[in-house]
Order: sequence, then C-alpha cells, then structure tokens
Amino acid sequence: MVDLAAVRANVRRIRDLAGPARLMAVVKADAYGHGAVPVARAALEAGAHALGVAHVAEALALRAAGITAPVLAWLHTVDTDFRAALAQDVALGVSGWELGPVAEAARELGRPARIHLKIDTGLGRNGATAERWPELVRLAAQAEAEGLVRVTGVFTHLAVADEPSRPETREQLERFRAAVDTARAAGLRPALRHAANSPGLLQAAGLERPEDMLLDMVRVGVCLYGLSPLPDRTPRQLGLVPAMTLRSTVSAVKEVPAGQGVSYGLGYVTERPTTLALIPLGYADGVPRSGTGGPVRIQGRTYPEVGRVAMDQLVVDLGAPGLSAPEHGLLGADAVLFGAGDDPSASAWADAAGTINYEIVTRVSPRVPRVHV
Ligand code: PLP
Repeated sequence: MVDLAAVRANVRRIRDLAGPARLMAVVKADAYGHGAVPVARAALEAGAHALGVAHVAEALALRAAGITAPVLAWLHTVDTDFRAALAQDVALGVSGWELGPVAEAARELGRPARIHLKIDTGLGRNGATAERWPELVRLAAQAEAEGLVRVTGVFTHLAVADEPSRPETREQLERFRAAVDTARAAGLRPALRHAANSPGLLQAAGLERPEDMLLDMVRVGVCLYGLSPLPDRTPRQLGLVPAMTLRSTVSAVKEVPAGQGVSYGLGYVTERPTTLALIPLGYADGVPRSGTGGPVRIQGRTYPEVGRVAMDQLVVDLGAPGLSAPEHGLLGADAVLFGAGDDPSASAWADAAGTINYEIVTRVSPRVPRVHV
C-alpha cells in the first residue's frame, strides 16, 4: 500500500525545510518503487514544482499519463531518443557528449532544447569534470546563441551529504559556486542552480548559510517517500511519514518441536517447541534473501524473520508453542514488514540485509500489487 496523503505531507515538510528554494520531486525508478505517476501527481498537488528522473523513457511515461509539469531527465546513453524528449518538452541534463546530439535533435525539431548542465564536483560519476567544464559552457553558450538550446539550469550531485561531519560536501559546494561563475562569465544565465538531495536538504538547517546548499532548487527523493537518509534519525524525528507499507497475511501456522531446522540451509534451528508463521513474501517480491532477522509485525508484536528468505516465502518464529489453535486468529492475520510508523521500518530490513532503506523500497517487485490510497 502506498499512502499518497503521506507523500503530500512529506512534500509540505520538505518545502518548509527548503524555504524559498523550489522542489524537484525525484520520481525515478518508479518513484523508488512507489508508483511514478500517482506519486508525481500527489507531489505536484502538494506543491512540488518539477519532477526529476534518470531516463528519458521515465519522463515520457509521465507525459503519456498526462503530466505536464516540468520534467528533467539526466542520465543518457548514445541510444537515448532526444527528439522524443524534446517533442514532449522534457528538459535534459547534459554532462558533455550529449550536447551535440541534443542540439541536433533541436535543429531537426525547430525548437530549442531546455538543458541543465551538470558538473561533477567530486562524486566521480556523470557530470563534466572541472577540467572539461569551461569547454562545455563555451559550447553550450554557442548553441544557445544559435537558438538550439536554452541553458535553464546548472547542477551537481553530492557524495557524502548523509555524513554531515565530512568536509567534502562544503568543498563540492565551493566548486559548484565557481562552476556557476564560469558559466555566467561565458554568458549563460541559468535560473536554476541545484545540488541538494534529501540528506543535503536536511543538512542545510545546520549550516551557517543554508542558501549555499538550497540554492534555487532541491532535488529530493527519499524524504518524499517518508524515509530517513540519515542512519541516526528516524522519519518521525525528521517530521516525515513513510508512504509505503509492505503487508501480507499469515498463510500458514504450524507447531514444531525443538531442533527443527528452518528454510534452505537449515541455518535456523528452534531451541524449544514453538509455533512458526509462514508469510508469502520472498525475494521474488523484493524482500532481500540476505534479510534474515528483518522485522515482521503480527497482531501488534514485532518478530524477527528466521531462516533464509526464500523466493516466495519467509518464516517468523512466534516464540511459543500452541499458537496454531484457531482462537489465536493467526491464520490470515496481517503481517507487516514495514510501514507507516517507525516500527517495523524499511531501515530495519536494510540493516538486516546490509543495505540502505532506498534499496528496500525500490526493489519491491511488480509481483506485489501497488494499492494507492
Ligand atoms: N539527484 C540525483 C542526480 C540523484 O541521482 C538522486 C537519487 O539518487 C537524487 C537527486 C535524490 O536523492 P535522494 O533520494 O537522496 O533525495
């Protein structure tokens, strides 16, 4: 279940934190598994100004659903259909090589492409390096003068914003400021400078000059979904509400003796007679196979998953014998892996599986029906 009221509340919270900066709601990867179209609509209703995705195909899917808000797509391959993007008024991130093909597509279509130039200020992924940046802005200014592009934004991505004590974020922001100066000196007038992701946004409040982080726009993903990007903060502490609940029901309840091995590898062995509950969710649904120990809430109590998560099911040890009797009502009871409050949480599953909460929600597979409320 995906609670769109939670998404709307999170948008309002993010806008409070962002102050005058605009909000680009990051809805790539099917809105981190939450459903891109309904989430995008909810975010825009609640005051997001624009949408951000990685691939042009993701942007085109939003357009096909009738969403007309500004959309930026920033990750391309040599096969990307820039013409289709421009025909649908999708703004494009440009890190270097894309400028030529994007300008060519604009020439063919007879209308300028809106582009956001991306500089790599330290993450080491896409974005022009500091050495290549002056040449990129010179070429972009030339294409702008020819009426082929309009440079409406300049952006960068932060590497360690989730670790506020590290100095690299400040260094990245300083390099970014210098890059914007270089772009201006080349005659470009990008209206939207953007750098902050969710942890950057959360860090801004503690900075002497939050505006250096918030700039003209923040690109926020995980906080939109009510998840915390900071290991030592829960969503509740940040004023956020998790939007996704991963719920199933207990599909079987069985009594087992002491010494019963559980699931492939028999890595868990019961210490005493007990009752096991089977939950029909497994790694084919996106629950990590390595997530043994992840929490499952049944009838108001949280139990650890035991044994290896299988393709279609996982097992919970209810800790006492005799619970299969019908009066306990366990067969068919709700089993929640994570959801609206802080317990059980996607972060607890991430800890169990050695990953981050971003991955836990994003990997929930298409086999799990998305019910939007
Ligand atoms: N900007 C870019 C370029 C990204 O790739 C992402 C996500 O990875 C975001 C912003 C949003 O990050 P977060 O989910 O931490 O807010």
